[in-house]
Amino acid sequence: MKTIPETIEMESVKQCPICAHTTFSKIADKGIVEKAGEPYAMTNVICTRCSCVFLNPRPTENGYAEFYKTLYVSDRGESTREGEGIVMNKDTSKKTGSIALALEPHIKKGDRILVIGGGLGMASAHLRDYFEAHVEMIEPSQEQAGHASNKYNLEVHNMDWETFTKTHSEKKYDAIVMHHVLEHFPHPVTMLTEARSYLKTNGVLYIEVPDANDYKKPKAHFFDLLHPISFSPSSMFWTLHYAGLKAIWKNENKKTRLQIIVQKAEDAQDKQNILSAKKLGTPITVCYGLYRTMWEIAYNIKNFKKAA
Ligand SMILES: [Zn+2]
Repeated sequence: MKTIPETIEMESVKQCPICAHTTFSKIADKGIVEKAGEPYAMTNVICTRCSCVFLNPRPTENGYAEFYKTLYVSDRGESTREGEGIVMNKDTSKKTGSIALALEPHIKKGDRILVIGGGLGMASAHLRDYFEAHVEMIEPSQEQAGHASNKYNLEVHNMDWETFTKTHSEKKYDAIVMHHVLEHFPHPVTMLTEARSYLKTNGVLYIEVPDANDYKKPKAHFFDLLHPISFSPSSMFWTLHYAGLKAIWKNENKKTRLQIIVQKAEDAQDKQNILSAKKLGTPITVCYGLYRTMWEIAYNIKNFKKAA
């Protein structure tokens, strides 16, 4: 097992990132950095109140910055470099199509969409063309932002979320897209509260994250150093709750991932389709000991299969 380099500055987390509770239980001591890569020693704990699973200790803000700069393969296997260019390794049409399908009931021609963490721009370009919408994208990586802008002619804000909130506070959108983005934020309630302020009345927020409750998920999606939070349906429910949001749709066919549409609580109020904590998913993570055992079994079966 690998260890996190000493050059990465770490901090211990004293309060649950979602509910501020101070009692946690350790549930896992390994995770990945590269998709399907060799495991690293890292600790994930579970909050004994809201069942949020989080990395503890975790890299500090500087630690993450250092990490992204030195070790992180920015798109983690989705693409490779050839000279100056970027070449995709896999077909992303299934992913981009899935985002459009989830948003379809809520988007009309000409709507304004903001894609946070848009990467190389495939999903943003697809949403723009599919809905004939006005799409903007935020992408902190200069290389990826450049690719999105040059190849797809997208309007890209090449900056991180914090900088965007300081420089573009006046903007409003009909939809905001966060596809495998929220789990990278150490303070998800703050982040979502900020994102909420960018929604027009009745606007929607699309979120997809890995589901920490799914033991059948591929080994490549086990606990991840770049995911300070590993969401389960129950911790997602509380995160939305504290950020003043409500889930109004969940993709029941998604395995190993949690794909949802949420709205501001005041916009979602009178609707029949608000998802309660129970409807969003079984809060199985409250059985900490069982949860840990399930992870260990799932992990060892995967390793055994890999070795066989
Ligand atoms: Zn908590």
